Amino acid sequence: MSATHKSLDVVRSYYEEAVKVLQVNEGVASLIWSTDREIRVQIPIVRDNGVLEVYKGYRVQHNNARGPYKGGFRYHPTVDAAEVTALAVLMTLKTALVDVPFGGAKGGIAIDPKKFSQRELEQITRRFTNGIMPVIGIYEDIPAPDVNTNPQIMAWFMDEYSRKHGYSPAIVTGKPIEVGGSQGRNEATGLGVAIVTEQLCKTLKQDLKGKTVIIQGYGNVGSNAARCLAERGAIIVGISDVGGGKYSPKGIDLEKALQVQKEDGSLQKLDSAESLTNEQLLEKPCDILVPAALDGVLTGENAPRIQAKMIIEGANAPTTDDADQIFEQRGILVVPDILANAGGVTASYFEWVQNLQQLSWPLDEVRHRLQIKMTSAFEATWKMAQKYHTTLRKAAYLLAVKRVADATVLRGYH
Ligand code: GLU
Repeated sequence: MSATHKSLDVVRSYYEEAVKVLQVNEGVASLIWSTDREIRVQIPIVRDNGVLEVYKGYRVQHNNARGPYKGGFRYHPTVDAAEVTALAVLMTLKTALVDVPFGGAKGGIAIDPKKFSQRELEQITRRFTNGIMPVIGIYEDIPAPDVNTNPQIMAWFMDEYSRKHGYSPAIVTGKPIEVGGSQGRNEATGLGVAIVTEQLCKTLKQDLKGKTVIIQGYGNVGSNAARCLAERGAIIVGISDVGGGKYSPKGIDLEKALQVQKEDGSLQKLDSAESLTNEQLLEKPCDILVPAALDGVLTGENAPRIQAKMIIEGANAPTTDDADQIFEQRGILVVPDILANAGGVTASYFEWVQNLQQLSWPLDEVRHRLQIKMTSAFEATWKMAQKYHTTLRKAAYLLAVKRVADATVLRGYH
């Protein structure tokens, strides 16, 4: 792969370490590392003011040894081929780690969706769907939501694909319930974060009840993680959005936060808590830190000042490799992204299965199955970390890379 991105370098170094420990054949290792297919599509859009603009969209299909390509697409100004590639590799590892029958892919468009009307976003989404149409399919590549994309966008995606192929809800996951979405998919990434946090506390013979938590990012992942952790007795002392952070040692009123965010589009008017920047919030006292926004926020620079004892990576690639080393030296436990935020793709798998069978499971069933999948992935990772005397991230890579390598060798490559 030609793309370079700091997250890709970090993922590569963990990948190479895992390959060495597992003694994966060199050719197989480089076959798995390289992306299967990368496409860039042009997205023309006539703005509401009549002006024609052109944007770029990407879909990177990294690996499908264990099943169809799977992964979300994001709308964010930083999206480029390299970022999408790093995130696609993480998806291959994530689906392997939670053992759902998928490979890994990722996509995105380099736009700030806040600057577009709903009509414009619909047009952009439909053009993107058409652009990548030749390489997707219900057994080929199944997209999903990611940063700044949501169930409505998935509904437009499904509709555009269905116009050409007939009704095809299984082409995309994270849809609204009304058009074939699954109960519990929307909350699943946040719920998964809470499940692994609870498992980590249990394994350490500690009580999650009463532990203080800071969550960076109050979008789909952060807000659901906050609610699910609070339901398990944790005290959420800090939250944030792009406008800045809010901190209150007594605990944030989460209902109020959601209400303020809904009315105002931002948390900044939440007046019952101290205002501070996103960077300052990360360094405030807490037991558990959940970075649930963008990548690269925990760095070699701020890692020495982080006060949390556990870090649960709700976002993809929030920790740089030098920060990771500092956390290891300081005895701070990090539950890596490919485990901590895998609840989303796991529930996506449940949605896909329901779509293929034209079934719809009740919420309790989705939650129950998610609990089983996330708990067993956590336990397997913990066991691996004990066996190799290593971090949870390195253990997760060992498990995931082994599964992808085994499938690759069994399927053959001639
Ligand atoms: N975007 C989510 C992730 O990074 C979900 C992907 C999916 O459900 O396919 O895991």
